Amino acid sequence: MTTTAAKTNLLGMSQDMLERYFAERDEKPFRARQLMQWVYQRGIVDFDDMTDLSKKLRDRLKADAAFELPQVQSRHDSVDGTVKWLFATDCGQAIETVFIPEPGRGTLCISSQVGCALDCAFCATGAQGFNRNLTSAEIIGQVLVANSELPRRDNGEPAVTNVVFMGMGEPLANYRNVIPVLRLLVSDRAYGLSWRRVTVSTSGIVPHIDKLGEDCNVALAVSLHATNDALRDRLVPINRLHPIDELLEACWRYAAGQANRFITFEYVMLRGVNDSFAHADELCELLANRPAKVNLIPFNPFTGTEFRRSAADTIRHFQERLRQRGLVATIRRTRGDDIDAACGQLAGEVSNRVRNRLGEKRRRAANKDDRSTKVVSA
Ligand code: SAH
Ligand code: SF4
Repeated sequence: MTTTAAKTNLLGMSQDMLERYFAERDEKPFRARQLMQWVYQRGIVDFDDMTDLSKKLRDRLKADAAFELPQVQSRHDSVDGTVKWLFATDCGQAIETVFIPEPGRGTLCISSQVGCALDCAFCATGAQGFNRNLTSAEIIGQVLVANSELPRRDNGEPAVTNVVFMGMGEPLANYRNVIPVLRLLVSDRAYGLSWRRVTVSTSGIVPHIDKLGEDCNVALAVSLHATNDALRDRLVPINRLHPIDELLEACWRYAAGQANRFITFEYVMLRGVNDSFAHADELCELLANRPAKVNLIPFNPFTGTEFRRSAADTIRHFQERLRQRGLVATIRRTRGDDIDAACGQLAGEVSNRVRNRLGEKRRRAANKDDRSTKVVSA
């Protein structure tokens, strides 16, 4: 529970936590549900506007608590409708959130950490190193602010219909703070999103995949990116701790707990690194006859990276090869290029980081770079 200036920040508390808060103050548990509806369904965070609470309770809450939202540092609107916000955290740091409008849905890509410690070789966030975990309030606050800044949909519903944990950070490395957020996203008292519309993306923290299966039923995306351990050790260093076999076993256990609903495997297309037919065939062997679909992500270059995006034809042929062998495979459309909002480009502003050696090397290279690697859409 976060407190500022002796006030408790109620933002981000799950129903259980709020009920406990009220129980400790001799208030009825249903107060929690009332509060959740005001905040998450109507976007009202001022206790004075919560008209079904008694004046006495409102005054008491005002003295003791608040719904403190993350502070928008800047907002950037892309020509394709994508919106990116930078939220100020503390000590001059910032995290990023991206809204991607598509026909029939609005997806919000949210951050879970300031930076990331896992240091995947092709990721701008990883290159920055890790500063700290976001609190539950800072994570759910991204959804609240996006919904309050964006116009409602034609059917009157909030703009955000889907949430993906594909912004900065590794959500399963911030498990304790992410779980209350997932509960709020799927709770009928809060956002009431179907679990199919909430996706946790992980690079493969195996014990927490199992735990997630027990604690909160949401869609799972796994950043695979390589088809053998030698290559994955290099691209996704957490693989040295949890190799591909172990990761996939956890995935199949997770899927089994969801009546074998498909898991999405993300596969970033890196020119000359993981994009040959031999790789496609290896991928098929790993995933054939399993509840799996593949999402091919054209690599988004960033300053200082040594990798390049596979050619558009290569990506299409790779997809075809997977499809011929019975795998469901899609290619992710790159959005928000003009505002640096594409997958893996989210860098925010991270300082005071726990530097990692690889990230440091890339940062030094970046200083020499003139940003000539700016993204070109596939
Ligand atoms: N840490 C989590 C979620 C955030 S990253 C994870 O790794 O899954 C979201 C997705 O963007 C992941 O699949 C990640 O591998 C991918 N990604 C990272 N850097 C990228 C880049 N430069 N280009 C394209 N995709 C990238
Ligand atoms: Fe972290 Fe995900 Fe980037 Fe890897 S890809 S460094 S896990 S944010």
